[in-house]
Amino acid sequence: ATAARQSLKIGLIPADGIGKEVIPAARTVLEALGSDIPKPEFIDLLAGWEVFTRSGSALPEETVETLRECDGALFGAVSSPSRSVTGYSSPIVALRKQLDLYANVRPVVSVAATPEEKPAVDLVVVRENTECLYVKQEVLTHTAQGKEARATRLITERASHRIGKMAFDIALGRPRKQVTIIHKSNVLSVTDGLFRETVRGVPAKYPGQYDSVKLEEQIVDSAVYRLIREPEIYDVMVAPNLYGDIISDAAAALVGSLGLVPSVNAGDKFVMGEPVHGSAPDIEGKGIANPIAAIRSAALMLRHLGYAQGADRIDVAVDQVIREGQVLTPDLGGSSSTNDVLNAVLKKM
Ligand code: ATP
Ligand code: MG
Repeated sequence: ATAARQSLKIGLIPADGIGKEVIPAARTVLEALGSDIPKPEFIDLLAGWEVFTRSGSALPEETVETLRECDGALFGAVSSPSRSVTGYSSPIVALRKQLDLYANVRPVVSVAATPEEKPAVDLVVVRENTECLYVKQEVLTHTAQGKEARATRLITERASHRIGKMAFDIALGRPRKQVTIIHKSNVLSVTDGLFRETVRGVPAKYPGQYDSVKLEEQIVDSAVYRLIREPEIYDVMVAPNLYGDIISDAAAALVGSLGLVPSVNAGDKFVMGEPVHGSAPDIEGKGIANPIAAIRSAALMLRHLGYAQGADRIDVAVDQVIREGQVLTPDLGGSSSTNDVLNAVLKKM
């Protein structure tokens, strides 16, 4: 399907804060790929806190409708108001729902001292993004003994199967081809039990397709312990929403700055790259935001669209810039600007 595309239609949603500084850098990198990808066509779109304060909507309908006609998108970051504001809710959560982006995929990779050396950390967290405790069905009741709060945790076979399949597909494209299911079915035997059994059952539904993938599993608490002590044992980790949320932030901490870690929100028909960091109000407007997370998110988006060669070219260039350590933003101990780093990456490409 990818080979048939004449052009790549990509929605750009810088949104707020440093999103406005790093998304244009990612765009420039995509433009520099030339014939490695179909000619990109960019469409600027609005979302976030700033457009909410102007228009009363954090996610204008036009943004969603336009995205439906795009191949992929890049999202910057949203500022969150310090207290809850009537009518405001996160546009990213709404986008995931409306475009059925059921997976959050976050590769966490350290850069080795030389290109020949294997990186100490090279894993991908594949987090289910639509259910688990985040269905937000919470009830507070008052009993004779005091308040009582309950939350519903939803795990379905359908959602577990599709996230499992995505994890297997991602593993197929990696040298180690290993999937680790993260769960707690020793305690939550019904919900986590269903997640675990469904993911385990994925290969049987596609005879022959996943024979080369090695399947492991781990209880979530020991998985976090081992992630911190020996991250090299992991390749692809697949988890229900809550565990995936926690594990993906813990994993990001293994490689230093938030300004380095990319992600995509992926569904079957659409993929949206998004740097893991937030809007970083403390450095907004100073021109020193690290653009690497956004640039790597663009590469990851390309990978999911089937353009591995273009994605590799970006990742190799970024690794070279980090390895040489000459042009780095202050979060990595350097004194270079967003633009300096962008230009260094372009030069390597
Ligand atoms: P938000 O509410 O939007 O999440 P935040 O205050 O949590 O904002 P983050 O963006 O999550 O801020 O960042 C946390 C810290 O990491 C901040 O000090 C920020 O400056 C720094 N940081 C985040 N992203 C980058 C980046 N791309 N380059 C440099 N520093 C960054
Ligand atoms: Mg934050």
